[in-house]
Amino acid sequence: MVNDCPLCNPVDERVIWRGKLVRVIDASDDDLPGFVRVIVKRHAAEMVDLTAEESAMVRKAVRLCELCMLETMHPDKINLASLGNMVPHVHWHVIARYKDDAFFPDSIWSPRRRTCPEEVLEERRAKAKIMLEKLPSLLTSLEKICPE
Ligand SMILES: [Zn+2]
Repeated sequence: MVNDCPLCNPVDERVIWRGKLVRVIDASDDDLPGFVRVIVKRHAAEMVDLTAEESAMVRKAVRLCELCMLETMHPDKINLASLGNMVPHVHWHVIARYKDDAFFPDSIWSPRRRTCPEEVLEERRAKAKIMLEKLPSLLTSLEKICPE
Protein backbone atom coordinates (compact mmCIF):
# COMPACT_ATOMS: atom_id res chain seq x y z
CA MET A 1 0.00 0.00 0.00
CA VAL A 2 1.33 3.39 -0.92
CA ASN A 3 1.64 5.79 1.97
CA ASP A 4 0.64 9.17 0.60
CA CYS A 5 0.53 10.86 3.99
CA PRO A 6 1.93 14.40 3.62
CA LEU A 7 3.60 14.29 7.03
CA CYS A 8 5.28 10.92 6.41
CA ASN A 9 6.42 12.18 3.00
CA PRO A 10 6.91 15.91 3.49
CA VAL A 11 7.86 18.17 0.62
CA ASP A 12 10.02 21.26 1.22
CA GLU A 13 10.01 21.01 5.02
CA ARG A 14 12.64 23.10 6.79
CA VAL A 15 13.66 20.55 9.41
CA ILE A 16 15.67 22.01 12.27
CA TRP A 17 15.92 18.89 14.40
CA ARG A 18 15.04 15.20 14.15
CA GLY A 19 14.61 13.02 17.23
CA LYS A 20 13.40 9.46 17.70
CA LEU A 21 9.81 10.47 18.32
CA VAL A 22 9.42 13.95 16.87
CA ARG A 23 10.94 16.33 14.37
CA VAL A 24 10.83 20.08 14.68
CA ILE A 25 10.45 22.25 11.62
CA ASP A 26 10.68 25.94 10.89
CA ALA A 27 7.16 26.92 9.86
CA SER A 28 7.68 30.67 9.73
CA ASP A 29 6.46 32.68 6.77
CA ASP A 30 6.77 36.31 5.65
CA ASP A 31 4.15 37.49 8.16
CA LEU A 32 5.13 35.24 11.04
CA PRO A 33 8.80 34.96 11.89
CA GLY A 34 9.15 32.67 14.90
CA PHE A 35 6.88 29.76 14.12
CA VAL A 36 7.97 26.18 14.73
CA ARG A 37 6.06 22.93 14.53
CA VAL A 38 6.71 19.83 16.64
CA ILE A 39 5.55 16.81 14.63
CA VAL A 40 5.19 13.25 15.93
CA LYS A 41 6.88 11.09 13.33
CA ARG A 42 4.56 8.09 13.52
CA HIS A 43 0.81 7.94 13.09
CA ALA A 44 -1.06 8.99 16.22
CA ALA A 45 -4.17 11.07 15.80
CA GLU A 46 -4.57 12.13 19.43
CA MET A 47 -2.19 12.85 22.28
CA VAL A 48 -3.79 9.92 24.13
CA ASP A 49 -2.76 7.62 21.27
CA LEU A 50 0.82 8.13 22.44
CA THR A 51 2.22 6.29 25.44
CA ALA A 52 2.43 8.35 28.61
CA GLU A 53 6.20 8.60 28.13
CA GLU A 54 5.82 9.71 24.51
CA SER A 55 3.21 12.26 25.49
CA ALA A 56 5.54 13.66 28.14
CA MET A 57 8.36 13.82 25.59
CA VAL A 58 6.19 15.75 23.12
CA ARG A 59 5.14 18.19 25.83
CA LYS A 60 8.75 18.69 26.90
CA ALA A 61 9.78 19.38 23.31
CA VAL A 62 6.98 21.94 22.96
CA ARG A 63 7.97 23.51 26.27
CA LEU A 64 11.59 23.82 25.13
CA CYS A 65 10.48 25.54 21.95
CA GLU A 66 8.38 27.94 24.02
CA LEU A 67 11.22 28.73 26.40
CA CYS A 68 13.70 29.29 23.59
CA MET A 69 11.18 31.47 21.72
CA LEU A 70 10.49 33.57 24.81
CA GLU A 71 14.16 34.10 25.54
CA THR A 72 15.23 34.98 22.03
CA MET A 73 12.18 36.65 20.49
CA HIS A 74 10.38 38.28 23.44
CA PRO A 75 6.94 37.93 21.87
CA ASP A 76 3.85 39.49 23.43
CA LYS A 77 2.30 36.02 23.51
CA ILE A 78 3.05 32.48 22.42
CA ASN A 79 0.25 30.57 20.77
CA LEU A 80 0.20 26.81 21.09
CA ALA A 81 -2.17 24.96 18.81
CA SER A 82 -2.77 21.31 18.05
CA LEU A 83 -5.46 20.75 15.46
CA GLY A 84 -4.52 17.81 13.28
CA ASN A 85 -7.83 17.57 11.49
CA MET A 86 -6.24 16.70 8.17
CA VAL A 87 -3.54 14.19 9.09
CA PRO A 88 -3.22 11.45 11.74
CA HIS A 89 -0.04 12.95 13.18
CA VAL A 90 -0.19 14.81 16.46
CA HIS A 91 1.65 18.07 15.91
CA TRP A 92 1.97 21.30 17.83
CA HIS A 93 2.26 24.76 16.37
CA VAL A 94 4.38 27.07 18.52
CA ILE A 95 3.92 30.62 17.32
CA ALA A 96 5.44 33.91 18.47
CA ARG A 97 2.69 36.52 18.51
CA TYR A 98 3.00 40.28 18.66
CA LYS A 99 0.29 42.86 19.15
CA ASP A 100 1.15 44.38 15.77
CA ASP A 101 1.40 41.12 13.81
CA ALA A 102 -0.84 40.66 10.79
CA PHE A 103 -3.53 38.70 12.63
CA PHE A 104 -3.36 39.68 16.32
CA PRO A 105 -5.43 39.16 18.47
CA ASP A 106 -7.06 36.56 16.22
CA SER A 107 -5.53 33.19 15.41
CA ILE A 108 -2.97 33.13 12.61
CA TRP A 109 -5.50 31.28 10.46
CA SER A 110 -7.90 34.23 10.63
CA PRO A 111 -8.27 36.98 8.03
CA ARG A 112 -5.42 39.50 8.02
CA ARG A 113 -6.06 42.62 10.10
CA ARG A 114 -3.04 44.75 9.20
CA THR A 115 0.39 44.78 7.61
CA CYS A 116 3.25 44.83 10.07
CA PRO A 117 6.03 47.26 9.03
CA GLU A 118 8.80 45.52 7.09
CA GLU A 119 11.58 46.88 9.36
CA VAL A 120 9.82 45.35 12.39
CA LEU A 121 9.50 42.02 10.60
CA GLU A 122 13.18 42.12 9.62
CA GLU A 123 14.17 42.56 13.25
CA ARG A 124 11.98 39.61 14.25
CA ARG A 125 13.39 37.45 11.44
CA ALA A 126 16.87 38.08 12.82
CA LYS A 127 15.72 36.99 16.28
CA ALA A 128 13.96 33.95 14.84
CA LYS A 129 17.20 32.95 13.12
CA ILE A 130 18.98 33.00 16.49
CA MET A 131 16.18 30.90 18.00
CA LEU A 132 16.48 28.33 15.19
CA GLU A 133 20.23 28.13 15.77
CA LYS A 134 19.79 27.49 19.50
CA LEU A 135 16.97 24.97 19.35
CA PRO A 136 18.72 21.84 17.98
CA SER A 137 21.23 21.50 20.82
CA LEU A 138 18.49 22.17 23.40
CA LEU A 139 16.30 19.46 21.86
CA THR A 140 19.20 17.03 21.68
CA SER A 141 19.91 17.50 25.38
CA LEU A 142 16.24 16.88 26.12
CA GLU A 143 16.29 13.59 24.25
CA LYS A 144 19.35 12.50 26.22
CA ILE A 145 17.55 13.27 29.49
CA CYS A 146 14.36 11.44 28.60
CA PRO A 147 14.82 8.76 25.93
CA GLU A 148 11.76 7.08 24.49
ZN1 LIG B 1 1.96 9.94 8.14
